[in-house]
Amino acid sequence: MLINQAIGEMLHRALESGVTKTEAYQLMAECPTDVLLTAAGRIRDRTRPDIITYSRKVFINLVNLCRDRCTYCTYKKEPSDPMLSMLNPSQVLTIADAGKKFRCTEALFVTGERPEQKYEQTRTWLRSLSYSSTVEYIYHMSELVLEKTGLLPHTNAGSLTKKEMSMLQDTNVSLGLMLETSSKRLMEKGMPHENAPSKNPKVRIKSLESAGELRIPITTGLLVGIGETHEDLIDSLFVIRQLHEKYGHIQEVIMQNFAPKRETGMAEFPPASPEYFLRSVAMARIVMPDMNIQVPPNLNPDIFDHYISAGINDWGGISPVTVDHVNPEFPWPSIELVRNVTESKGHKLRARLPIYPKFLKGGFITSERLQKHASLIADNSGLVREEYIYVND
Ligand code: SF4
Repeated sequence: MLINQAIGEMLHRALESGVTKTEAYQLMAECPTDVLLTAAGRIRDRTRPDIITYSRKVFINLVNLCRDRCTYCTYKKEPSDPMLSMLNPSQVLTIADAGKKFRCTEALFVTGERPEQKYEQTRTWLRSLSYSSTVEYIYHMSELVLEKTGLLPHTNAGSLTKKEMSMLQDTNVSLGLMLETSSKRLMEKGMPHENAPSKNPKVRIKSLESAGELRIPITTGLLVGIGETHEDLIDSLFVIRQLHEKYGHIQEVIMQNFAPKRETGMAEFPPASPEYFLRSVAMARIVMPDMNIQVPPNLNPDIFDHYISAGINDWGGISPVTVDHVNPEFPWPSIELVRNVTESKGHKLRARLPIYPKFLKGGFITSERLQKHASLIADNSGLVREEYIYVND
């Protein structure tokens, strides 16, 4: 494939020293896809040549009521929905116990955005359990799971205040908060985030900054294909890059492709095309050469092997026990299949903790009990000890 000189020079700089935002716009717009992917793969191989990781997890769908209304979402339920989830402590523990039996290491706690602000039912439920907020309940359920099973909690409960994050820091090894996009335009009338104040990029960025000030390892990322322009996508990647340059706390960036779902406001909206999505993943690697870049393998099963070529080094959480409650129509592939695909591309698959080795070893965990439990699972490299997973197999 012939490429023009300017693109060639930019790719050379990308491999040597990174790109500017203007260069990233141009690469996204003009670089042939195979060339872009090859460059991204080479950048990944420079820093992470051998290992592609995943996190062996259980998905604890704590409460799926939500104050906001994103037009692509099927996770959020109403109180009358038969799929409503409001887990009591014994249900939480049953899921975590099942995870322990399958040698999971991550307890992923997920909730909608501040459901108690909108639903009396949530307020009554929390009161009946002696809690005043969803975050307080997450704190105690994380503690319960940690102490009873040793699974390491990681929470994604939307935009949190600094005080709330500081509380969760004591029982969670890391937190998750998708930026999704830095474009305010997607909050305008008729756009996906019109009725989702927590998706205001200002609010999300403030939460990500708070996590940085607290030195909490945080997972963030983009939802690709919800109406952003190419420039929006690059701008969003640079927002994350700048946050990480300032605080050094972004442990991974998830690139997730939008897929339309029935009975949502975006049911007729076209999905992110495989080519656009692969280009977006490659640009994430090019913009952030040293970052952990993750794509979930279940959302686009036909092309998930191509993500390795596009520069990823992580598959995210895969559960041998629970479904993906955010995308239940997309089952996770078996870990064996993910291993085979990873090895067919010349990489080794390893299980990681819900905190990446650099952060585990870098003093980011301040809670002694979290340190103690993490050290029981991790090996010297900071990944999951192989004998933890394969004992009694
Ligand atoms: S904030 Fe999350 S749970 Fe709530 S509607 Fe939006 S995507 Fe769904």
